[in-house]
Amino acid sequence: MNLSELEAFARTAAERIEAVEGEGEQAQVALQVLAEGGWLRWTVPAAWGGAQHAGVSAERIGVRALCDARKTFTYASGMLDVMFVEQGLGSFPIALGAAQGDRAPWMEAVFQGVLAGTTISAFALTETGAGSDLAAVATRAEGNAEQGWVLNGEKTFISNAGIAGFYTVLARTQGQPGDRDGLSMFYVPAEAEGVSVERFAVMAPHPIGTVRFEGVRLEPDQCLGAPGKGMAIALGTLATFRTSVAAAALGFSRRAFDESVRHLEQRVQFGRPLSAFQGLRFDLAEMDVRLRAGELLMQEAAELVDLEVDSGTEVARAKYYATENASWICDRAVQHLGGLGVKRGQIVERLYREVRALRIYEGTSEVQKLLLGKAALERFRERSVD
Ligand SMILES: Cc1cc2nc3c(=O)[nH]c(=O)nc-3n(C[C@H](O)[C@H](O)[C@H](O)COP(=O)(O)OP(=O)(O)OC[C@H]3O[C@@H](n4cnc5c(N)ncnc54)[C@H](O)[C@@H]3O)c2cc1C
Repeated sequence: MNLSELEAFARTAAERIEAVEGEGEQAQVALQVLAEGGWLRWTVPAAWGGAQHAGVSAERIGVRALCDARKTFTYASGMLDVMFVEQGLGSFPIALGAAQGDRAPWMEAVFQGVLAGTTISAFALTETGAGSDLAAVATRAEGNAEQGWVLNGEKTFISNAGIAGFYTVLARTQGQPGDRDGLSMFYVPAEAEGVSVERFAVMAPHPIGTVRFEGVRLEPDQCLGAPGKGMAIALGTLATFRTSVAAAALGFSRRAFDESVRHLEQRVQFGRPLSAFQGLRFDLAEMDVRLRAGELLMQEAAELVDLEVDSGTEVARAKYYATENASWICDRAVQHLGGLGVKRGQIVERLYREVRALRIYEGTSEVQKLLLGKAALERFRERSVD
């Protein structure tokens, strides 16, 4: 993999995306340029036509490569990054499900569409009553593995809602909201009868909305993996992609840092460039250290995920640290630009808005801290026993 090639691609892609108006149109251009450049292969396991990465099983996605791509893409364009990662996030549950059971021919066709950028993926876990607490999922699929299923319920905050060709949907096949067991993962084509979408806007460009399922009929093999094993597929998908949220945050914050330095060097006040003032240099030092620390945490987590060793703590640390600090770094960059920092159209103003959601999706900062706190206590208790 060639990083300068990746950077050159991201710069050109960002120009092509910005040349068109409208969120949906920009999303389409982003996907098209990603497919043309062959980069969507990085979002799919080699066993399904994706790229083979050194030391990574053919059934898995190369997380170090995913991180390299995301930090390069967010440096140039948030939309490029969203359209890239969602292709993997939405389709990986199919690969995980197939690993538990059969590999149906329709799955090959779905992955071909994902790789070509002709089919857009979406991953649908969240509901109005089930955010951080996925056990609260109430969307229900009635039926069985012989006769098929009928899906009813509603998912919200679903990236790519309305432009997706399919949704991978976590739904209850047994038990009641609150039970961790009894959840299954389904493949639901967007054109299936009974699927409807209501789009809404968030603070930065991001295709998103609510998806409703009313009596949607599904074939037996549209249940991905064994019925009742959907929570493991959802968590397995998040465990694979979560480190790359840290990478996305690092790309946004690296860009904010570079914009800050450029401005502080150029802007003259009190007869000197702003970069001559110690208070602002101290800020740059703090930004630099937080960026580097985030990068190292991200690299550590990505390596462990690729090695398929227990990495929940390292992943949580990387996601929490990089996303929280990205917000702080983008905020400092806005401050360094003064009034220009809040002017619409300025890069740092866009970064400040774009980086915010990363502390919320794929496990909020508080959820990461719950995991980290629990792990810290476990380590302490293990030492105390010795
Ligand atoms: C831009 C964007 C894109 C998204 N894309 C998708 C997508 O494609 N697919 C999908 O399924 N979902 C998606 N989501 C939804 C996202 O995963 C949820 O918003 C997230 O999991 C949090 O759930 P919630 O919004 O219901 O907040 P809640 O779970 O209600 O949490 C509200 C606040 O309480 C805190 N909190 C909750 N529980 C605890 C606790 N036990 N201890 C301490 N604090 C706690 C949270 O950290 C948060 O600060 C997206 C969200 C955004 C913003």
